[in-house]
Amino acid sequence: MPERLVVIGGDAAGMSAASQARRRRRPDDLEIIVLEKGNYVSYSACGEPYFVSGDVDDFEDLQVRTPEQFWKVSIDARLHHEVTAIDVAQGRVLVRNREDDSEEWLGYDQLLYATGAHSIRPPIEGIGLNGVHELRTLDDAQTLRRAATGGARKAVVVGGGYIGLEVAEAFHTVGLETTIVTMMPTVLERTFDPDMGEKIGYRIEELGIELITEHKVECLEGREGKVVGVGCADQSIPADIVVLALGSRPTTQLAIDAGIPIGTGGGIAVDERQRTAIEGIWSAGDCADAVHRLTGQPINLHLGTVANKAGRVAGINLGGGDATFPGVLGTAITKVHDFEIARTGLTEFEAEAAGLAFAAAEVGSSTAAHYWPGSSPMRIKMVAERDTTRLLGAQIFGGPGAGKRIDTVAAALWAGMEASDLAMADLSYSPPFSGVWDPINIAARKAAAAASSP
Ligand code: FAD
Repeated sequence: MPERLVVIGGDAAGMSAASQARRRRRPDDLEIIVLEKGNYVSYSACGEPYFVSGDVDDFEDLQVRTPEQFWKVSIDARLHHEVTAIDVAQGRVLVRNREDDSEEWLGYDQLLYATGAHSIRPPIEGIGLNGVHELRTLDDAQTLRRAATGGARKAVVVGGGYIGLEVAEAFHTVGLETTIVTMMPTVLERTFDPDMGEKIGYRIEELGIELITEHKVECLEGREGKVVGVGCADQSIPADIVVLALGSRPTTQLAIDAGIPIGTGGGIAVDERQRTAIEGIWSAGDCADAVHRLTGQPINLHLGTVANKAGRVAGINLGGGDATFPGVLGTAITKVHDFEIARTGLTEFEAEAAGLAFAAAEVGSSTAAHYWPGSSPMRIKMVAERDTTRLLGAQIFGGPGAGKRIDTVAAALWAGMEASDLAMADLSYSPPFSGVWDPINIAARKAAAAASSP
């Protein structure tokens, strides 16, 4: 009898793990069953806003692989199969088939918990009205595209995080009058320092998206079961479509009920090989914690980059190999039209919370030589540790070519470089791409100076 691996959750982490395990172990040695409660496996949630905007026109493009493609390599991917309980003592999961509502227990030798994250839905009045959406699954993306292009004129996005910004961009692209409402003082409040968030907010407004900050949404107003507005204490904002983009939480309830320990980051606690504290149970992706390389502390990030890599590590180990997950920096990038926004490592706020002594420098520069016709402004804030000048993080925004510069900083952080090293690093130059000193060199020089000044 082959050993049996059961995977709960058939997206980035779950399918990366299943694929890696299959590459290393043949079907007569390891049976692999993936249980996915939704309508798709292996899909690109990251591409959903661009399907809503029409930049990605073909829905099929968001499906990276189908269940049939997995069946061909002997991965038994089952759609509409929801795990409703884990019986750790007996090594089995309770599975509900959502098509016929039947239930059965399924035994496992190894279990990978890869249930991802879910959107936060606060209990506000009117949340069940027609026209109130979230964006998480491919089904949500289809519904939202239909709603955005079906005669609506006014859209309100509640929440100014990455997904809020991307949805707002999509609505604006299809010609809707678009407003972002956030109770925070700026957009991207949790991932950028407020001074950077404020400037990002100004640019978003210049692009034609209305931004209302420091306004808590208290209710969603409806007429005949359909949303017509968003109610705050002192104003009501008319809306034909509302998207709630209030952040996400790791989907851990099943694990908690089964006694699988949760980490201090809020996701499932795993070791560097993606093992939970319970023998034979593994976890990876949005539902699991990962160690931050700069603080050494567990953190629960919801990023496709992390989910794919952690899933791969789990799969290699389940396949009999030996892989370890090296940790995260929280590197992320997004855009609103041609305005690019990216970050890596620690913000000032996060460095302070981690108890580190730091200094920061901010530099205004351009994406190409100042005389180059396509050159546009960009801004970098770089954070470095006091005295040692060890790099701690960077935040960048600006025109085309600004955002991906974050990867230079991420690679430097990964290697544990000091800001003074990065200041003189041999980065490329030609006028269409940068000034002779790349903005990263300049920001690093200023951060090193700030960190070593008394
Ligand atoms: P998920 O992708 O959430 O997959 C978990 C799966 O488990 C789901 O399919 C779910 O249906 C299933 N499941 C849950 N519970 C059960 C159960 N009890 N039984 C059976 N199945 C279950 N990240 C980036 O790095 N860059 C981006 O640009 C980016 N853009 C994004 C845009 C949007 C709109 C969204 C929603 C996310 C975006 N992300 C982005 C985040 C990225 O999509 C996630 O980090 C990634 O999908 C996480 O993969 P995962 O496998 O851990 O979880």
